[in-house]
Amino acid sequence: MTKLIYAFDEGQKSMKDLLGGKGANLSEMKRLGLPVPDGFTITTEACIDYLKQGEHLSDEVKSQLHDHLTAFSNRTGKSFSSQDHLLLVSVRSGAKISMPGMMDTILNLGLNDENVEKLATKTDDARFAYDCYRRLLQMFGDVVYGVPMTHFDTYFEQYKKAHQYNSDADITAEGLKEICEQYKGIYLEHGHKPFPQDPLQQLEESIEAVFKSWDNDRARVYRDLNDIPHDIGTAVNIQEMVFGNSGERSGTGVAFTRNPVTGENQLFGEYLLNAQGEDVVAGIRTPKDIDTLKEQMPDVHQQFVNVTKQLETHYKDLQDIEFTIENGRLYLLQTRNGKRTARAAIKVAVDLVNEGLITKEEAVTQVDVKSIETLLHPNFKEEALKQATVISKMGLPASPGAATGKVVFSAEEAKVQAENGDSVILMRPETSPEDIEGMVASEAIVTTHGGMTSHAAVVARGMGKCCVTGCSDVEIDTVNKTVHYPNGDMLHEGDIISVDGSAGDLYLGEIETVSAEHSDEFEQFMQWSEEIARLQVRMNAETPQDIQAGYQFNAKGIGLVRTEHMFFGAERLVEMRRFILASNYDERVEALNKIKTYQIEDFEAIFKLSSGRPTIVRLLDPPLHEFLPSTEEDIAMVADQLNVSTAHLKRRINDLNEVNPMLGHRGCRLAITYPELYEMQVEAIMTSVFNLKKEGITSQPEIMIPLVSTVEEFTTLKSQLVSTIQDLENDMKDKVHYLIGTMIETPRACLIADQLAQQCDFFSFGTNDLTQLTYGFSRDDAGKFINVYTESNILQLDPFQTLDHDGVGQLIEIAVTNAKRVNSSIKIGVCGELGGDAKSIRRFNQLDIDYVSCSPFRVPGAILATAQSQAEESER
Ligand code: PEP
Ligand code: MG
Repeated sequence: MTKLIYAFDEGQKSMKDLLGGKGANLSEMKRLGLPVPDGFTITTEACIDYLKQGEHLSDEVKSQLHDHLTAFSNRTGKSFSSQDHLLLVSVRSGAKISMPGMMDTILNLGLNDENVEKLATKTDDARFAYDCYRRLLQMFGDVVYGVPMTHFDTYFEQYKKAHQYNSDADITAEGLKEICEQYKGIYLEHGHKPFPQDPLQQLEESIEAVFKSWDNDRARVYRDLNDIPHDIGTAVNIQEMVFGNSGERSGTGVAFTRNPVTGENQLFGEYLLNAQGEDVVAGIRTPKDIDTLKEQMPDVHQQFVNVTKQLETHYKDLQDIEFTIENGRLYLLQTRNGKRTARAAIKVAVDLVNEGLITKEEAVTQVDVKSIETLLHPNFKEEALKQATVISKMGLPASPGAATGKVVFSAEEAKVQAENGDSVILMRPETSPEDIEGMVASEAIVTTHGGMTSHAAVVARGMGKCCVTGCSDVEIDTVNKTVHYPNGDMLHEGDIISVDGSAGDLYLGEIETVSAEHSDEFEQFMQWSEEIARLQVRMNAETPQDIQAGYQFNAKGIGLVRTEHMFFGAERLVEMRRFILASNYDERVEALNKIKTYQIEDFEAIFKLSSGRPTIVRLLDPPLHEFLPSTEEDIAMVADQLNVSTAHLKRRINDLNEVNPMLGHRGCRLAITYPELYEMQVEAIMTSVFNLKKEGITSQPEIMIPLVSTVEEFTTLKSQLVSTIQDLENDMKDKVHYLIGTMIETPRACLIADQLAQQCDFFSFGTNDLTQLTYGFSRDDAGKFINVYTESNILQLDPFQTLDHDGVGQLIEIAVTNAKRVNSSIKIGVCGELGGDAKSIRRFNQLDIDYVSCSPFRVPGAILATAQSQAEESER
């Protein structure tokens, strides 16, 4: 018999796969002797099994559930039917990887028409008892019977209005009783069945609903976004209720052991007195700062502070802790590693190392690669901010960033407008898990309710998205699609605003931005990452701005200069076209000589910025037709520029037209047919190197021949280029060091890597073309079907974004092993998109590859990924 349920004292933190994060940590807290209400966890295996079998809870789960309830009663004396020791429980989901707010929760389960009276008598507080009951009716109706929450909310609000109550707390016990009765009517009308009075039936149906919620749309979207597998299921935690809503000496809250926005080492939290469970997270009431608890309940505050320190030291990471106070007694309901901004992640990791709590290797694995990329985003320009019209400065800086976009008022609208290519800012009174796709589509999220731990804040921080919450001085009217703001003005849908997530401020219109500045902790963290990493990181860049950015991020050189990017300036394009359309060698050389002058200038700038760091220049690669005009208008203009007839130009364009240009006359094939092309480029490269040498600047040119698939292609071109360089050296009466290597982009090149390695100084894997040619998927057209492939699990991941281990990865492995066997000093890198992808880097780190190369803004993420890969390798 498989054990499908574990009491909290049977588990521990290492059992996350089986008990989910919440269950494993509740068990761990119990083991540490912390005040955790009693309970048990139904395993993820039971969930996976249920989702496979469908329909009903298995007899096995039911029987083990029965045993655990009996054991629970024996331990505590409490049961669903006891007169004096009534048992009420919460039912909460908890997957291995936390998915805040994505799945469902039910509180106060066990109440029915009879038990609510028992609770009222026992607590001598009928108002409290009926408040619990109406909450159960709402949650159970929504989660288990699919009765939309709005039906309950609408009635609740109408009731308050009719009785002129301002807040929920004003409703009397009698009133709540009446509301409960009306809610039961809503069940019949919209759920088509009554609320079940049998607590065991409530429990079994709730467990099923939580299992099912694993597959709801928002959970699926969240998993896709966060690369969480769809087949690991959720555990379900059944826990005795403690009541934060049982009076003014009770409350509920959420706290982080350090500030999750800045990383500052200071307890950071919020709570509400006389409130239950989700009130804080849902952002319906604006909570109080945890420091205020010191005045209201000093003992509880001190106990809580001690517990948070103990948990952080135990878990060696920032903890996100949920707690409830019942009549002055503290209970812990959850602890988990807290979600944090990238800035906080870096600061916390560096501080924890400095405090001696973790090693540098542990520190690098604590920070998410994706989140580090958000740190590189720009901020608003100080002076521009001073000039800008303020909409509000009352908001909370929930998640940093500087975003500008059109105001929208619903998640659906955000999605539609974003799909149309607009940048949008989603403004809502508060967000709920249903809004997840709209939040993804938005540049920033603004809410008027809720605090720093509200749904909007937590989810936005997790996404690295700019967010301002609790912006209480603006009033959002989602029906009329307007926002009233303090100076009396109004915003309408489509108006442009700017959101400063680091300050919590909103401004009218667009504001200029500046690039991010880095903290000392960031520098320190990146330095540790480099110390730990084995693979080096270079950049793919050719413009001065990009090269400067990449070197600021500590790239170790340039892994790919795409020379074709230098041919698109207006004057160069004319000469390039002259070269392509020339009818004989002399005409071609004449055009190339003009281009050479430009190329020398470009290369000088590049090598100067590289100042001695290795720099790979790839010789011309794309099919030539990419440089030719296509519209009638452009053809007429070019014919005029080149002094040829339009008819002649059209004929030449037609001659150059290819059925499969990506498989056609491109890469090294261009130079096999027109050797003068690469000769010109190499002359330009080496001339610039000699010129700089005269200025005392050294260069490390690495000349790369693209798209080779036979050794003869490479040797033919190499001997031509070496002889060109020798001629130049003779003219200059000087020598410089250079390397000549190839790009490995075709499956055949991988398979003959040993032969190529005997001729090459270096290899660089062009994984974009290699993936295209291995799968036979056009890299330009795959967008039309890859999504369908990944959605239907035909492919797990897009192979153009993450390395396909079995196919492309295997070809790379064969090539690397065979190449290093015959030429142990050959330098090997990866310069396709995969060079900047963290998951792919994990695999590259296991192969005998020397460096990866990616676009400048991906360099810090790639450095971190290389460090993480190495730290994980050394762990094994
Ligand atoms: C590649 O093919 O991976 C590559 C880097 O070259 P390009 O993208 O320019 O074809
Ligand atoms: Mg390529």
